[in-house]
Amino acid sequence: MEWEAVIGLEIHAELETNSKMFCRCPVVDVTVADPNTAVCVVCTGQPGVLPVINRRAVEFAIMVGLALNCEIADFNKFDRKNYFYPDLPKGYQISQYDYPIAKNGYLMIDLPDGSTKRIRIRRAHLEEDTAKNTHLSDGTSLVDFNRSGIPLLEIVTEPDIHSAEEAEAFGRKLRAILQYLGVNSGDMSKGVLRMEPNISVRPMGSDELRTRTEVKNLNSIRNMFRASEEEIKRQIKVWEAGGAVEQETRGWDEVRQTTVLQRSKESAHDYRYFPEPDLPVLHIAREWVEEIRARMPELPDAKRERYLGGYGLGAYDAGVLVADRAIGDYFEAAVKAGGDPKTVANWITGQIFRLMNQSGLEREQINEIPITPETLVALIGLIDNNTINNNTAKRVLDILYAEGGDPAAIVKAHGLAQETDTSILQQAIDDVLQANPSEIERWKNGEEKVAKFLMGQVMRALGGKADAQLIQQLLQESLTNFG
Ligand code: ADP
Ligand code: MG
Ligand code: ZN
Repeated sequence: MEWEAVIGLEIHAELETNSKMFCRCPVVDVTVADPNTAVCVVCTGQPGVLPVINRRAVEFAIMVGLALNCEIADFNKFDRKNYFYPDLPKGYQISQYDYPIAKNGYLMIDLPDGSTKRIRIRRAHLEEDTAKNTHLSDGTSLVDFNRSGIPLLEIVTEPDIHSAEEAEAFGRKLRAILQYLGVNSGDMSKGVLRMEPNISVRPMGSDELRTRTEVKNLNSIRNMFRASEEEIKRQIKVWEAGGAVEQETRGWDEVRQTTVLQRSKESAHDYRYFPEPDLPVLHIAREWVEEIRARMPELPDAKRERYLGGYGLGAYDAGVLVADRAIGDYFEAAVKAGGDPKTVANWITGQIFRLMNQSGLEREQINEIPITPETLVALIGLIDNNTINNNTAKRVLDILYAEGGDPAAIVKAHGLAQETDTSILQQAIDDVLQANPSEIERWKNGEEKVAKFLMGQVMRALGGKADAQLIQQLLQESLTNFG
């Protein structure tokens, strides 16, 4: 039987405001800051304190809602979601239950085959993050309240996603939008962005919704893709063996590359939601929404159109360049520095990505490489003015990537400038032809490819540092004139 996956995503995105959701504590990088240094009586849940809504967090949520084509609610209410856990000092989380700030939207995702697909967004609501528990091997548990109260936007999709590839495409597009809006760094390894797929499978062609599992603790989009893939396979196996998939929360075992049971279905959620009595109802004025809409930054789809039209890039390059805001910024800085758009795009998506992959850098970390956009343009300039050829430029790029510095200076220090003195080039050609009389015979008998071999020999004799076109031209002439 053929099976179809059904996936809905729940995403938690911390909003990178200056202060927390309901208090004045700064929002810090919890993977770096000393524990419990950004805390106060409000975010540690002391009795008698009052929360105050962070206006900027609401504004960020509206921006995300608009970018996801949602209706922005006029009437907003906060609710208490009650449960006990050591990372939740109040015994409840302030969230939005029946009146989320945004709902009924959609996101167009870009699939690997070049097609697009619309994924409906059910809702997005504001809440506060919990503290962070760390469990040590000796049985001790530590709580860091720096994260407690950081603004959090929970985004929930409809179950419109039907493969691990689509889940990945959704994740990439959403992350790009959050980065473009400047509301979230997108760094899943730090936990500031968390994506949890709800997964079920059903016979292809049916529209039933079978029991789903939820996969948590995915620290990268790559892992979300892999976990979805494996979980889909696992469920198909269960059904095909005559069993039934249980509703449960599963985690991702990176080492074994498989999903593992974390906890089985908890008794039906009973959070005893009720309206947060310490916060007023929040009305969002239409004028405010329109004012925010008017100053929304350019988003990935619009940027891609601009790259396709204005810069004449191909669809693939344009898609890759806009997929991470940092890459697009790098590309545009290089073009601004005088680089030819197509050439710059090639160098970024080819050589620079190769080097970044080798050193394990994510695309959004392009600003951390020791090659600035201006340096890249300077390197391309050395090819354009025939100082070095393409292959040498790749060597220079490797050196730049390792050590930084100035391309021209590196060419000089390493003696990489190409030989342009035609008498020296001609000498090298003559030497090679002298040494290969039988190849010349074959060439004369019409074996064109021999020229390529001879070309390689000449290039090698010159240490790879020569203008390939010039050599080809000289070689062709020499061959014709020879004997
Ligand atoms: P809850 O409120 O209990 O978390 P929801 O019905 O709100 O459950 O759904 C949470 C997420 O799970 C949504 O993204 C939704 O699209 C998805 N989902 C719901 N039912 C299924 C199913 N049978 N298979 C896959 N995903 C599902
Ligand atoms: Mg849920
Ligand atoms: Zn605080």
